[in-house]
Amino acid sequence: MASHIVGYPRMGPKRELKFALESFWDGKSSAEDLEKVATDLRASIWKQMADAGIKYIPSNTFSYYDQVLDTTAMLGAVPDRYSWTGGEINLSTYFSMARGNATVPAMEMTKWFDTNYHFIVPELAPSTKFSYSSHKAINEYKEAKALGVDTVPVLVGPVSYLLLSKAAKGVEKSFSPLSLLSSILPVYKEVIAQLKAAGASWIQFDEPTLVKDLESHQLSAFSAAYSELESALSGLNVLVETYFADVPADSYKILTSLSSVTAYGFDLERGTKTLELVKSGFPAGKYLFAGVVDGRNIWADDLAASLATLQSLEAVVGKDKLVVSTSCSLMHTAVDLVNETKLDDEIKSWLAFAAQKVVEAYFSANAAALASRRSSPRVTNEEVQKAATALKGSDHRRATTVSARLDAQQKKLNLPILPTTTIGSFPQTVELRRVRREYKAKKISEEEYTNAIKEEISKVVKIQEELDIDVLVHGEPERNDMVEYFGEQLSGFTFTANGWVQSYGSRCVKPPIIYGDVSRPNPMTVFWSKMAQSMTARPMKGMLTGPVTILNWSFVRNDQPRFETCYQIALAIKKEVEDLEAGGIQVIQIDEAALREGLPLRKSEHAFYLDWAVHSFRITNCGVQDTTQIHTHMCYSNFNDIIQSIINMDADVITIENSRSDEKLLSVFREGVVYGAGIGPGVYDIHSPRIPSKEEIADRVNKMLAVLDTNILWVNPDCGLKTRKYAEVKPALTNMVEAAKQIRAEL
Ligand code: GLN
Ligand code: ZN
Repeated sequence: MASHIVGYPRMGPKRELKFALESFWDGKSSAEDLEKVATDLRASIWKQMADAGIKYIPSNTFSYYDQVLDTTAMLGAVPDRYSWTGGEINLSTYFSMARGNATVPAMEMTKWFDTNYHFIVPELAPSTKFSYSSHKAINEYKEAKALGVDTVPVLVGPVSYLLLSKAAKGVEKSFSPLSLLSSILPVYKEVIAQLKAAGASWIQFDEPTLVKDLESHQLSAFSAAYSELESALSGLNVLVETYFADVPADSYKILTSLSSVTAYGFDLERGTKTLELVKSGFPAGKYLFAGVVDGRNIWADDLAASLATLQSLEAVVGKDKLVVSTSCSLMHTAVDLVNETKLDDEIKSWLAFAAQKVVEAYFSANAAALASRRSSPRVTNEEVQKAATALKGSDHRRATTVSARLDAQQKKLNLPILPTTTIGSFPQTVELRRVRREYKAKKISEEEYTNAIKEEISKVVKIQEELDIDVLVHGEPERNDMVEYFGEQLSGFTFTANGWVQSYGSRCVKPPIIYGDVSRPNPMTVFWSKMAQSMTARPMKGMLTGPVTILNWSFVRNDQPRFETCYQIALAIKKEVEDLEAGGIQVIQIDEAALREGLPLRKSEHAFYLDWAVHSFRITNCGVQDTTQIHTHMCYSNFNDIIQSIINMDADVITIENSRSDEKLLSVFREGVVYGAGIGPGVYDIHSPRIPSKEEIADRVNKMLAVLDTNILWVNPDCGLKTRKYAEVKPALTNMVEAAKQIRAEL
């Protein structure tokens, strides 16, 4: 059976591209240096796939920044503000669009479906002119060919490109980017003609928007586009690749009736219903690229399960038309297990990163490892499983209403109206990072480490007292990352040295791996929180990361449903919450920064996800007394569609990011009034070094007071202050507290 790879990580096994890009941006190396690193990376990837015996090897999945931006460059759809005057788009114009330059801001960036990858959103207007302006696809095809590798060039499909675009400023109301379909197709035709002339026999169009709930005019655009391209495509094998979810039945019908298309790629890892669709009808004589190797996780493939799937498809599609593929581009998984020298051998044998996933031999070698994973006592903890199973079906809700609880809390806390607080972290200095690193490397003793952190906490407490903030935080100096910190102390987690995944541009994240049942052997934060509380008479917030966020920012085990793993984490956090309460901490914040991120792509699956996610959050704190105040924090503001779920979380106080979208939130706040909980919409943006003035903050607070009750509004920044400098944080918080005081005096 032939095999295919949808796409491959660009960063390199040791993030070579990241360092080359950042050095180029800093002016420390030349464009030639950068190109050399890129060329070497591409060559090694193609060679690796060819050596592994992959038949359909992709090209043009490399990128200096993002594949959607590459398509914008190909189409010459450069927004006017970059003053591009035509010709082949150079690095300077390209990176200006991606990152902005001294005079012009960057284009908008947004999340790529439900992954942690971010793409550059095309900005289109009726006046946008298209011309073939980046020859990257043909150049990469020829480059591989010169190395002896005949590749499948990959393009972002024309319809997905337009559906992912936004209308430029000024035409938002009157214009839909999809109306430009017939204007961009001529450029696609030119690209196709060149690829054909250069000898390509296959072409791949990525059309992932096909997994979304589309309207009928959007679906018609697919038929229109691929029939318009039909004559250009004749003589080529054409693969339309979808990924990340099931293809809805109506879309499947349209897609499989496109006569210019000869092959279909489906994600059979997340798209189990698609499998049923294929079995109930697949066009004769066409290829099926069966995405059975999970491109979004790090687990070795379940050979037996994949083989069973492939065998059942063989009967439908025919042996010579069935191709083994990855569920999506491998850019969403880690790069190469070879570099994990510290990971223990048993766990290592259960894993496959991108490099291992392309090795066909792995298909046969991994059967034994898989059996070991299933039977390993390291994976299973019966007590945890029983406890998590017992949770299903029950409610787990605090007994009293939020208003009654807030009253009880206020009697103890005695806070002023418009209480001020911060979200958790304070600036992380170079010195702090050094202390943590040296402790980890056992270069300094436990005592030295504890003293250094204690000193930092005491500094942060003093600053907050001087600023006259009402509810304090300890500043999180002992934490490197809000998920990793907890994962390292929970059982069932492991960590890689180089398991990086691209997030955007040169930025990568290194998610922990949850491989087994999760439990909490020891308290994780109680020592530091109690220490911090002992330094002040003001309430000190305990600071935890919530179960849904820990889950959504990790590689999650695939041998049980996500919700089960989430319930297990919830039980672990619940223990921590209760220990904090017993330790005298009266206010506990449980961050759910990533709750919304986990929302499934298909609307039909939202309710189920939200139900177990919100339930998990409630499990963590349903056991505390009325007088213990539970806060939660969320890093996004577009939750109009999930407001009911936010209310269902039943937190006492919610702090949310807000500074970039005042208006949208107002309607949400109104619902908040009904709910009765405290609400702290961020009063200034912590993502920018800019220091907000007292007047500007007061103005924000007054706007919120126009729709919110005075007694439920909190005053706080948008998010944690970890990435800022003290020189920015101190004046910004001074202005924030003064603004709150001024308004209190006016009320
Ligand atoms: N408590 C965390 C902090 O302040 C929250 C971070 C986040 O929401 N991303 O850093
Ligand atoms: Zn945040």
